[in-house]
Amino acid sequence: RRADARALALDACHTADGARIEVFANLGDAAEAAPAVAGGAEGCGLLRTEFLFLERETAPTEDEQLVQYQAIADALDGRPLIIRTLDAGGDKPLPYLPMPHEENPALGLRGVRSGLHRPDILLAQLRAICRVRSKGTVAVMLPMIASVAEVRQVRAMLDVAVAETDGRAPVLGVMIETPAAAMTVDRLAPAIDFISIGTNDLTQYALAMDRQNAALAAQLDSLHPAVLRLIAQASGSAAALKWIGVCGGLASDVLAAPILIGLGVRELSATPSMVAEVKAVVRSLTLADCSQLAASALSQDSAEAVRALATERLGALV
Ligand code: PEP
Ligand code: MG
Repeated sequence: RRADARALALDACHTADGARIEVFANLGDAAEAAPAVAGGAEGCGLLRTEFLFLERETAPTEDEQLVQYQAIADALDGRPLIIRTLDAGGDKPLPYLPMPHEENPALGLRGVRSGLHRPDILLAQLRAICRVRSKGTVAVMLPMIASVAEVRQVRAMLDVAVAETDGRAPVLGVMIETPAAAMTVDRLAPAIDFISIGTNDLTQYALAMDRQNAALAAQLDSLHPAVLRLIAQASGSAAALKWIGVCGGLASDVLAAPILIGLGVRELSATPSMVAEVKAVVRSLTLADCSQLAASALSQDSAEAVRALATERLGALV
């Protein structure tokens, strides 16, 4: 029986009525990749590349980055790898990336904004990603996108990186973690190949509550109906894209995963330790179960009410 449970954890994930739901893992460094695959991850839906950039005096070189990305691609053995470009911000100062003092770092020069502020650093990262060799999809994902213009600027840099490295053009996608991005996916879609919703920041910006403020932690629940409505709006205008994913904390939450699927999400990137549990809950439900739960969740008054509803509907499953 233990062998069965393990085999099931490793099998591709489908709902009870056969809809394919990819369950990926978020990774924070190269050492996490092989254990994530052993735990059932079908790919990496978010590689947080900050590990390469923090706690050092100079930016990592293109070659240094390539070694790490290639090691992860090798461990994934042809499974998709989504590499997020550096998500630096005023709250995490890097000696080689001096930032002006900011009163509100969460609203400042972070994510793709810092990349466009220092195109030399972003270009080196894009070049390293173009040089990764994999049997599977390698993708670039941009954090904190708030407008189509940002995507176009990075796309132009990516074209340069592909040409200069003679590399294979990676797939390009964006994180949906600002309300602006969530509300304009139809405008972003022609410029990108996929979206992945970053529910941690999307919640912070939708609720106007600092995700680092301990006094607000209890209220900062991504199942708030406002956040769910933004997710519904985003996924509703993303039908033509390769992935409609979630890589924020909601993807690791077994009460939330069925709601996300009901809202149209087809790829969940969870923390590695939650991959098997997320797969198990997805397998026990049909798409219709998920849509019904999502529809009811959208018309609740609070995250608590959504949690109570999901707990009642999912019963013994979670
Ligand atoms: C998010 O904001 O949901 C996300 C996945 O990115 P991070 O937690 O790294 O900001
Ligand atoms: Mg984020």
